[in-house]
Amino acid sequence: MKVERITLTHVRIPLVEPYRISNGEVSEKDGILVRVDAGGLAGMGEASPMAGSFYSDDTPASVWKFLTDWLIPAVLAAKVDSVAAINRVLDRAGGSPFARAGLETAFWDLEARAAGKPLYELIGGYNVPVESGLAVGITKGIPAMIATIEKYLAEGYKRVKIKIQPGWDVGPLGEIRQRFGDIPLMVDANGAYSREDIPHLQSLDAFGLVMIEQPLPGDDLRGHADLQGKIRTPLCLDEGAGDIRAVRRAIRMKSCRIVDIKIQRVGGLANAIAVHDLCASVGMSVSAGTMPELGIGGAQTLHLATLPNFAYPTDVESSARWFIDDVIAPLITVREGMITIPAGIGNCYEPAESAIGRFRVAERVFGA
Ligand SMILES: [Mg+2]
Repeated sequence: MKVERITLTHVRIPLVEPYRISNGEVSEKDGILVRVDAGGLAGMGEASPMAGSFYSDDTPASVWKFLTDWLIPAVLAAKVDSVAAINRVLDRAGGSPFARAGLETAFWDLEARAAGKPLYELIGGYNVPVESGLAVGITKGIPAMIATIEKYLAEGYKRVKIKIQPGWDVGPLGEIRQRFGDIPLMVDANGAYSREDIPHLQSLDAFGLVMIEQPLPGDDLRGHADLQGKIRTPLCLDEGAGDIRAVRRAIRMKSCRIVDIKIQRVGGLANAIAVHDLCASVGMSVSAGTMPELGIGGAQTLHLATLPNFAYPTDVESSARWFIDDVIAPLITVREGMITIPAGIGNCYEPAESAIGRFRVAERVFGA
């Protein structure tokens, strides 16, 4: 598997509605697509930071610069020819997990295609439909939120997640319970609360939530342990589970009962699998999260989510839920709340060249 060429394409796709979380709002989705050509095959990856400081310090511009100035030259110089080899180079290089995820997952796709297998088979997963959960951002008022949930529940989504922040929690949750009864429901605060809010957060037990995701800031594992000791609802760490060392600490400190795994946040599929396996070894279940990524990253998360320790519906939704179009064919589609990975090899979704061309902001080709 001799790499001949690596192509970076920055695409920007308008969202069908703005997405607001406790940290801010976005109305377009940026993705940096990484194509690795080798031996007549092409592997696709996606580096998928959000614009601004919406989720982390990584931005499309910073990830593009790190890939072009540093990572891609390092990978080409090292004559990387496998997933194992690229992980050795990336481990030495350090830096942005998003940049790393884009490159690393392209090599997984390539390796699966070279083996003539779907990606899930290469990582020890299964050919099973994946349950999909709906995520709803912070809306301008409760009626807009109820309308969004109503619209998408009709498509059969298996769970509803709402984004919360101080002042936007018990009100919307009460309305949802009143309107939709006993549906599987969870919340995600993206770290918007502080330890002073622990008594208030305890009151969320009354809503019978599946989990509370990242109530406190990412680095506050001690605060999460304190809260988890005082609340029945399982806590889930997302931002606080940045890498396998953080997950080890969180397990030791009893900071959570569930770990959200994002391929982008942990810097690639090998790291994501390592976190999955660590959690499985201590009996802690995991859920598969998204930024959300465009279809290439979304598809990789679907393959990951077929591993046995994923115990909750994934955050991957239909392409049409967030994006006016997507960079893959076929589009990701939820039917009766389930996503079936199409028959195929590698990611099993092929890049949609016309859409990539239409939404392209920048492109750069690196020859070996
Ligand atoms: Mg989250």
